[in-house]
Parts: sequence; structure tokens; C-alpha cells
Amino acid sequence: MLLFTPGPTPTPEAIRVAMSVPTIHHRTPEFEEIFKIVREKLIKIMNMPEVLMLASSGSGAMEAAIINLCKSHALTINAGKFGERFGKICKAHGIAYTELKYSWDTPASVFDITNALKANPTIDTLCIQICESAGGLRHDIEGIAKAVKDISKDIMIIADGITAVGVEKIDTTHIDALITGSQKAFMLPPGLAMIGLSGAAVTKIENSPKGFYFNLASELKNQRKNTTAYTAATTLIIGLKAMIELIEKEGLEKFYDDTKNRALAVKEALEAVGLAIYPKTPALAMNTVYNEKAKEIRSIAKKKYGVNIAGGQDELKDKLFRINNMGLIAPHEIAWALNAVELALNELGIRDYDGTANRVFVANFFRGEK
Ligand SMILES: *Cc1c(COP(=O)(O)O)cnc(C)c1O
Repeated sequence: MLLFTPGPTPTPEAIRVAMSVPTIHHRTPEFEEIFKIVREKLIKIMNMPEVLMLASSGSGAMEAAIINLCKSHALTINAGKFGERFGKICKAHGIAYTELKYSWDTPASVFDITNALKANPTIDTLCIQICESAGGLRHDIEGIAKAVKDISKDIMIIADGITAVGVEKIDTTHIDALITGSQKAFMLPPGLAMIGLSGAAVTKIENSPKGFYFNLASELKNQRKNTTAYTAATTLIIGLKAMIELIEKEGLEKFYDDTKNRALAVKEALEAVGLAIYPKTPALAMNTVYNEKAKEIRSIAKKKYGVNIAGGQDELKDKLFRINNMGLIAPHEIAWALNAVELALNELGIRDYDGTANRVFVANFFRGEK
């Protein structure tokens, strides 16, 4: 079965092999050496002055960032399931918040955000996704973050980059917490979250420590010494080291270029067989299609052709399908996934099969070759 869901993504064989070593103890010089290497590599990839690794899924890092950085009132952007989660975290912790709600295909506007900030000067934190995975949408994080900092440098910007880190080079100039998780572009099994922090975020965390397991001040103190406050996710960190080394073989730039090239070629192919891309501003992490028969298309792709693509969530559960584009993906695998979608359209009587999806994908993917 080909796993084409936008998280978890399939783990490459080289990484699975790297993780198949006997468990090593986390309080040892051997593990601290591995931790140090990964930490330094992550600081570079995330392009943030400080980075923390937490043994949790991505949502744990979202919670950690909110409780450690928001001291009075949060502004949360809800353009999908994951943006909605920011509000739920605030609620669970009794943190006051204002939510800006958008349809799942619509990115947040700079205007709405700056208006909300002007209306409520107690807001000290903005929580937003870079890619909102519910609808495969890309927010204008660069424009939004800059506009927020123009209003006040003290407003902390928490960016959920769970499906953006490792997908594209992110401009982190105005971001204070950049969150990601192991099971998306890093292609590891789930269970490791990472947070990149700005200098201002570090100061804020150290000045008013908060929480117990997710107390980032105690993690900062430990992780700067290449250890963790509690037992580290040793196996996943070993896998992450192997994955970053795999990416580094051809270079990070190439990794990003391939991701972008493939995202656009897949989009062309889907459109060429008459499918409608759902979000107004598609992210590169996945291709999201709106179709009344999305559920049936996915079911045929899975049962007949061995391709597992994701559906939507909530009301859009059966109306969207999402094809992952994060990580190292072999062109023949995505070509097969697109072919499966086209064959499903044929079977459902939507469009006669003629191999267009594959032809358009391949022509676009290799358009630079001479
Ligand atoms: C996957 C995802 C999450 C949730 O991460 P978990 O690891 O399931 O907790 C959060 N935000 C976005 C944008 C995601 O894609």
C-alpha cells in the first residue's frame, strides 16, 4: 500500500534501518552526542536561534507554545481543524482568546488580524498555521507576521509549521515559535515534536516559566546541555538524524525545489482531468481536491490500486481528498497515485480514462530536463 496521506507520511527504509538499533539510555554521552548533532541541524533547518525537541505529537508543542508564551490574551486563526485546536487549547487552560474564523478554503487576511489587534490591546499572542492541513491552505504568514510586529514587537507569533517545516524555506524573521512534528515532512513515525524559538520567546519563557511536562524553561536549561528534562524520544531522534543526513546528501535547497516542482506538477495533472483544487491559496505540502465523489475516489484508489490518500475532516470528510506532497517522494509513486485517481474517475463515470493525469504530471515534473 502506498501511503499518500499528509501525515503520517511513509518512513524511508534507510530511516527504519537506522532506528532498528538496540535502545540506548538517554543519560549517556553516546546519546548526548547524537542529540547535539540533531539540535544543531534543526537550528539550521528551522532558521531559529533556539530549538527544543519534545516527546509528544505536534499538538503537544502547540500546547507548550501557548502556555509558555501567552500571558494575557491570544488571537487564534481558525481556517480549519488545526486552527480550531489553538482555541481549544486556550480554553482548556483558561487562557482568554479571540478567534477569527474563516471558511476552510480561505486564508486569513492581514486586515482582519490588525483590526482585531487594534480592537484589543491586551492581545499578546497570535496563533496561526503556516499550512492549515484541513483544507491544504497556505496562510500569508510572512505578510501577517510583519504587520503584527509593526503594531507591537511584543506580540508573540506562534506559527504551526507542522506541514510547512521541511516543505519550504520559511521566513522566520518575525516568528517567535515555529512548531513541527516528526510524522510530516521528516517522514518519521509519530511521537516527536519540535519548536524553534526566537530570542524574544526564549526571554519570555525564562522570565515566567509555566507548566510541568511542557515547561519550556526547564527544557531550555536541559537541551542546551544536550539532554532533556524527561526521557527523550531516543529512537525518533536517531531516526531524525538519519533523515536529515539523507536530505543533506542532495541538499536542503534541492529538497525544497523538488517538493515545489512536484506540488505544481501534481496540481496541473489533477486540473487536467477536470478536478477542482479546493483552497484559494494552496500550500505545497499537499494537493487538496473538492469533489462530491471524493469518498468513492479514495475508496477505489485504495482497494483497486493500493494507494491510500486522505479524505477531509468534519463536514468536508467525504467531499475532499488530500494527496501528500511532503518528504522524499519517488516520481513513479506519485505518478501511480495520480493514475489511480484518473482510473477511479473512469470507474465512477465522471471522465473517460486516457492517461492524461500521468502524461501531464510527467511532462510538468520533468519540464526542466533537456
Ligand atoms: C498534523 C498536524 C497537527 C497535529 O499534529 P499531531 O501530531 O496529530 O498532534 C497540527 N497542525 C497541523 C497543521 C498538522 O498538519
